[in-house]
Amino acid sequence: MTEVIDGNAVAADIRDGIADRVETLADAGVKPGLATVLMSEDPASETYVSMKQRDCEEVDMKGIHVELDPEAPASELYETIDELNDDDGVHGILVQLPLPDHVDEREVLRRIRPEKDVDGFHPENVGRLVAGNARFKPCTPHGIQRLFAAHDIETEGADAVVVGRSDIVGKPMANLLIQKAPQGNATVTVCHSRTDDLAARTRQADIVIAAAGMPEFIDGSMLQEGATVIDVGINRVESEDGSGTELVGDVEYDSAVEVAGAITPVPGGVGPMTRAMLLYNTLKAASLQTGVDIDLP
Ligand code: NAD
Repeated sequence: MTEVIDGNAVAADIRDGIADRVETLADAGVKPGLATVLMSEDPASETYVSMKQRDCEEVDMKGIHVELDPEAPASELYETIDELNDDDGVHGILVQLPLPDHVDEREVLRRIRPEKDVDGFHPENVGRLVAGNARFKPCTPHGIQRLFAAHDIETEGADAVVVGRSDIVGKPMANLLIQKAPQGNATVTVCHSRTDDLAARTRQADIVIAAAGMPEFIDGSMLQEGATVIDVGINRVESEDGSGTELVGDVEYDSAVEVAGAITPVPGGVGPMTRAMLLYNTLKAASLQTGVDIDLP
């Protein structure tokens, strides 16, 4: 029987642990604050940001939201970041990507104080992660590690194939999987748009992590019997009955579930974990910045 990995359930457990620790911080007079900055009218980005704000409320953190006109000069975004950096009530800052073309994304990521960079994208935090001394693990790969832990999926000695090499998912995922640490110690292959014969590689894998943003392009024929399949993709496509649109992953679920040993659905797999780990990083940021120990797992 294929194990369907329920990301909603694992994320709910993590949120409960976070809510308890928010109370401990409250007893010490600290309320963790997460600032989200949106400089886009993209409906997906608007939805992501509003979900993140709602998540904050649910665990009694303070959500601060700043919206900037996508046509505004980049300097306005830089000034907003500087103000949030200086605001002691803000422990975490998240600038929703992608940004308009006239804004230099690298400069934005460099500008957020590393101590408040709860996405883990500042070069200092990327360096720390690669060195095996992460301050904030990027939320999606961190959430995937938590799914492995919750479902006793052994990564040590496993052959893992990561499909996608983005700074947000693929690269940090590969880095975490090769570390000499729990939910690491795997042998990792990173595939990307120039990889030859992807199927030959995924078929060798004990663990496949699909993060290419291509609807249902990994099917059951590309998987090894019993493999763990983690589907990161979120793709909006026309629904089969023509009634509108629906969300699908990068994995063709119906054929993959016949072959896989364990699989994450879309929605309800990796997505809720990404959101939970953002709360986790914000909590950690608040603890580090205030010196209040909350015994984080
Ligand atoms: P991205 O567009 O930055 O990167 C896509 C990667 O896929 C690239 O590295 C590219 O080399 C690779 N790729 C493209 N075509 C390929 C092919 N034919 N074979 C192999 N590799 C190929 O994407 P991203 O930001 O990493 O996101 C990937 C997907 O994951 C998207 O659907 C995104 O919406 C989703 N996502 C989901 C979550 C979540 O929480 N579930 C979080 C982040 C991203």
